[in-house]
Amino acid sequence: MAPRIETKCVQAGYTPKNGEPRQIPIIQSTTFKYATSEDMGKLFDLEAEGYFYSRLQNPTNDLVAAKIASLEGGTAGMLTSSGMAANFFALFNLCSAGDHVVSSSSIYGGTFNLLSVTMARMGIQTTFVDPDATREELDAAFRPNTKCVFGETIANPALTVLDIELFSQAAHDHGVPLIIDNTFATPVNCRPGEWGADIVPHSTTKYMDGHGAALGGAIVDMGRFDWMAHADKYPGLCTPDESYHGIVYAERFGNGGAFITKCTAQLMRDFGSAQSPQSAFILNLGLESLHVRMPRHCENGLAVAEFLNAHPKIARVSYPSLPGDKYYPMAQKYLPNGSCGVVSFELKGGRAAAERFMKALKLAAIETHVADARTCCLCPAASTHRQMTDEQLAAAGVPAGMVRMSCGLESKIDLIEDIAQALEQA
Ligand SMILES: *Cc1c(COP(=O)(O)O)cnc(C)c1O
Repeated sequence: MAPRIETKCVQAGYTPKNGEPRQIPIIQSTTFKYATSEDMGKLFDLEAEGYFYSRLQNPTNDLVAAKIASLEGGTAGMLTSSGMAANFFALFNLCSAGDHVVSSSSIYGGTFNLLSVTMARMGIQTTFVDPDATREELDAAFRPNTKCVFGETIANPALTVLDIELFSQAAHDHGVPLIIDNTFATPVNCRPGEWGADIVPHSTTKYMDGHGAALGGAIVDMGRFDWMAHADKYPGLCTPDESYHGIVYAERFGNGGAFITKCTAQLMRDFGSAQSPQSAFILNLGLESLHVRMPRHCENGLAVAEFLNAHPKIARVSYPSLPGDKYYPMAQKYLPNGSCGVVSFELKGGRAAAERFMKALKLAAIETHVADARTCCLCPAASTHRQMTDEQLAAAGVPAGMVRMSCGLESKIDLIEDIAQALEQA
């Protein structure tokens, strides 16, 4: 019997044996002891499984990564220090200088910057495509050196919903995997792997932790992409790694394990970005209630979206689960049980009115954060997206006067009363 997602949130990843701790143990140790150098040598050669240094792997982190992999229906997972590290590792595990990425233009500002500036400096070019691109437009973006396609299930902050099936078909027809950042939907509301995504990174800082307590990221491999069938494109996975005595990841670990093993053995080894076991423990506490919290975030998000939609001072509301929203049909397909607690809207008075409104809010705090138990809000153009030009902002669906409100777990009646009084002052 395959457990349901609610049961996985609570129990997946860790099954204590007789007399072992019921809660996952925090292994707060940087290093691990061995009887002989030979024993340790086997670990360094990736011949045996085990722990030697927490930059590469830690038992607490592995239990939590296994839970997240199970939630997404993947074959392997790993934790990273942040969502940005997860996205960078997911991309850089496939791309080298001279390679090319196709990405939706409607993505998190930090990831947009990673692709358009930092990875460009590393010699990796990105072509940004409209999240609503047709199959023909998608096909036109591919080059012979394209190594992957990137997008977000629900984009932060534009709240576009990606046609994951269309993007995955295009990616696969061009012989490359699809990476889908599933941070906003969480596996409770959408499992991108069921629609063809191959690699699913997360910022666990958001709903998975859900309490604004621990920064973190995760990467899950669905284990379905056939690396060896595209061996010419992925030498890193399909040719010998001399730093591990000529191991070929795709051969030794198969489609189910190659991606995460290489990502851990090379990128964690060389870049660090490990999550602390303390943070992994906090993340796991969040995961235990993810399936209980998500429906409430969605209920509050929808109530706030409906209220704003009917308000005379509001020019536009974006919320994919709101009937009439541009992405409502896409959300019905990919997110039938709800999308998330984040609502974007534009005040008729533009940026100045948005700033007055936010200042007048009493329950919703101004924060660079989303997906928290406490309601918070932000003006993306003045914060997370301030490095973008007006044209890039428009392409990302983020007008200057937009407010992004992340509805928490408070009473929806209190939230709406707070918004109503703040709008009176805006
Ligand atoms: C926040 C966020 C990130 C970055 O995650 P951090 O944990 O802040 O590094 C990446 N993708 C999405 C969709 C996000 O919302």
